[in-house]
This record gives sequence, structure tokens and C-alpha cells, in this order.
Amino acid sequence: MAVSEKGFLLVHGALLADPAKRRGEPTDVLIEDGMIHSVGTGLTAPEGTPVFDASGMLMHPGLINSHTHGHTGLAKGMGDKWTLELLLAAAPWIGGSRTVEDKKLTTLICAAEMVAKGCTAAYDLYYEFPLPSRDGLDAAAAAYAEAGMRAVIAPMVADRTMYEAIPGLMDALPDALQAQVARLKLMPFEQTLSAIGDVLKHWRWSGQDIRPAVAPTIPLHCADEFMCGCAQLAREHGVGLHSHVGESKVQAVVGRQKYGKTLVAHLDALGLLGPDFTAAHAVWLDDDDFKRMADHGASMAHNPGSNMRLGNGMFRLRQAIDAGCNVGIGTDGASCADNQNMYEAMRYASMLSKVQTPDPRFWATSEEVYKAATIGSARALGFKDLGLIAPGYKADIVFLDLGSINWVPHNWSTNQIVHTEDGGGVRHVMTGGRLIFKDGRHTTLDLAKLAREAEAARARLEALNAEWHELYLKLEPVVASFCPAIAAQPYHLKRYLCDAPA
Ligand SMILES: [Zn+2]
Repeated sequence: MAVSEKGFLLVHGALLADPAKRRGEPTDVLIEDGMIHSVGTGLTAPEGTPVFDASGMLMHPGLINSHTHGHTGLAKGMGDKWTLELLLAAAPWIGGSRTVEDKKLTTLICAAEMVAKGCTAAYDLYYEFPLPSRDGLDAAAAAYAEAGMRAVIAPMVADRTMYEAIPGLMDALPDALQAQVARLKLMPFEQTLSAIGDVLKHWRWSGQDIRPAVAPTIPLHCADEFMCGCAQLAREHGVGLHSHVGESKVQAVVGRQKYGKTLVAHLDALGLLGPDFTAAHAVWLDDDDFKRMADHGASMAHNPGSNMRLGNGMFRLRQAIDAGCNVGIGTDGASCADNQNMYEAMRYASMLSKVQTPDPRFWATSEEVYKAATIGSARALGFKDLGLIAPGYKADIVFLDLGSINWVPHNWSTNQIVHTEDGGGVRHVMTGGRLIFKDGRHTTLDLAKLAREAEAARARLEALNAEWHELYLKLEPVVASFCPAIAAQPYHLKRYLCDAPA
């Protein structure tokens, strides 16, 4: 469980990565009851304080994944050449027929990978069909607790399928397929809102920093009244609101046709934007959208690996930062990432900023990316005491082995964390001063057992979802030709913020 160790602990002998300095310097960290008490050299600790010898290590705060989906853990590596719309068409096949045990298992697979790759907290948009359930979300929360992580878990909901959300797509399907797709019809939103309300009311994990949130998945997939109902529930319960906004060009084009304005302008008009709102992806946002997001103190979760993998485009990180937006970094789900590696997400974020123009004045720096993956993501999750190794923050610390090949030699700490580290150097990970990963192994879970359970579930679900696989194979050619034709339409992004030469 992600609860803090009691008493004092002195971490001694490690270097501390600091974006303000080129190379980390020797720094002690005194931890009290899971919180960082003091940071410096030659710290005095109460007599008898245990010392954790971290010689030969570089410390950085636990990385924070601002956007993932625990339900995708069992769907790792299942597709290639998938656009977002093809991935959504595949969802019943790659995510269907799950038991409550599967729901925990799939999340635990993601959580175990995150911990092993230096990540200690995640914002998880969790999908269940046909309705979010107390048991299902409880199972996801139990997985994060078992892994020793902190999390924000949002039931991900919609009241219309993609076939209803994209004008003309349903009509493009042959009649027989239309009848089959009708089986995917979603519940009236009143029922979904009441299911979310039930989950929020009975949530039992907040004391362990596993908090709930609400995620109307994609604005086009939700009636305006439903979006507003989600926001109202989130505000009543004091929890976050998270949605995929402008992820694919199809969404941007259809959004402008449907709403007569950009997706962000539409959400603004509905009153959804605020400090508790996170827009995932935000690839197809123009400069006015960035200003709206910044004015409301809202956050964006940048998922560069997923955006490249699904051919969605490039988030404009430089412009978002310059507009004053809070930006976090995320992996997105294992079905479109196809991993949960925050080091890779940081590296991609840096490189995707740099590939957009040959003029380095318009690039994000590695320090900016590093801050986005720590304090930027922490803010998106709504945690004020995560993302830094400083007094008053939770003692969530990653120890990188400077003897690993990623650190031979060690030249520039934060730059090397962003550009060189790939998770192979992670030696220990602690949350709340407690080691959840020690000498390259999980202390809270049995990876071999997890692998056996995952393989058994994979084989069982493959058989159970065979009919959904068949349906996907029939839908694929239609979706694969219809949606790119929409995306081929011109979509003008209004730009005036430090616009870089392409
Ligand atoms: Zn997502």
C-alpha cells in the first residue's frame, strides 16, 4: 500500500539531480514519516536514525505519468498501423470480456512497469463497458496500492460510440455491420452519471493518495449536457476532470463542423475549463486555445509516444509553455505507447519539439521536459506535494545507478535523464520513504506470478473476444479509409505565439 514509512530515515551518499545545475551534487535527504524533512549536506538526524546508503546513485523525484489507461495493460503490442480511430474500433476486441480480477491484473501490469521505470504516480483514465463500476475501479485502485504507487483514477465515459460521433461513419458501414455495431451502443448518460456518482461516493483509497476523478472521454463522444454533468459531479466531490481534446485531426475537423468553434472554445463555453481540468494530447490546439487553457490554469497531458504511434501529429510544446500553460508528460495506454516508460516519453517530448523546426530558439529544453514530467504532471494530478525533492514534499525518490551504461560517463544530470536514461539504470524506487523497488526488483509484488496470471488471462480473453476480433477485421477497411479522408480536409491552426519556421 502507498502509505508512508513511520519515523526518520536518512538518505546519504547520493547525488541530487537539479535542473539548475549541470551535474548533480552530493546531497543528503532526511525523511520523516514519509515526507521530506530536509535536504542538504551534513544534515543532523535524531540519534538512532537509520541510514540508507545511496553511494554511487543519482536521485531524481519519482516521475509522474499524467495520462495513461490501466485497462490497456493486457493489450500491449496488439496492433500496428493503427490510427486513433482504428484503435477505438479495436477496443471491444482488445479490452472486452474482463472479469474484476482481470481489471486488477491489467492495471497491475501497467503499474509494475511504471515503477520499474522510475514512475511513482499516474493519472489513469479507466474504461469499463457498459458502465463504470465500484468493483472495477476498486480493483484498479488496489493494483496501484499493491505496486506502491500514488494515482488518480477516473472512470472514462461516453454516451455515443465513435460510429455515432463521426458524421457519416455509420452510414459508410454495410447494413449487416451497422447491426453488429449497434451492440456497442452506450447507456443513456443519466445512468452513467449515477454510476460515477456511486463510485465517487464510496471511494475508499484517498488516504493512500489514490484519488478518483471524472473523465468524459472525448467531447464529440459526449452530449454537452453529459459533459456538464461530469463537471458538476467532479466539482461536487472536489476531484479532477480529464478529457482527450484535439488528439486526432479527425476530432479537430469534426469538432469545428459540429460546434462552429474549436474543441477548447467549446469546452470553455460549457464552463469546463479550470485548474482541475486536464486536456490529454492537445495536438490540434491553436494559439487561442492555449491562451484559454492558460487563463483558466488548466493542464495539458503531452503523450508524444502515442501521438507518433497513432499518426496524430505533434504537440507544440514550446508554444504551450510560452502561452503559460501547465504541461505534464504521459505515456498514454499500453495499447498505443506500447509501454509505460516515462523516460522514453520525456525523450520523445524533447525530440518531438526539436523536429518541428530547424531553429533551436523554438525548441523545448531538456530542463523544461524534466520539469513537465515531475512538477508539471504533479499539478495535472492535483498533488501539491509531489514532483520535487524538497522539504514538505513526499519522499518519492528514484535512485539511478551511476555504474549503469547510461551513466558512463555522467556529464549532465537532467539532460542525461531526459535523453540517455531508458529505465535500465533504475536501481531503487521509494514512495513515502518506503522502498517499493530495490536492487532492480519489486518489493511489493511477484513479477513471475504476474507474468503467469497475465499469460493465462491473455489466452482466455483471446478466445472470449474472438467474435469481436472478427468484427474488427470487417470494420477495419471502412474506418481505415473513411477517417483519413476527413483528416485530409484542411484545418487552419491560428498561430501567433513565437511561431517557428517549419
Ligand atoms: Zn488516452
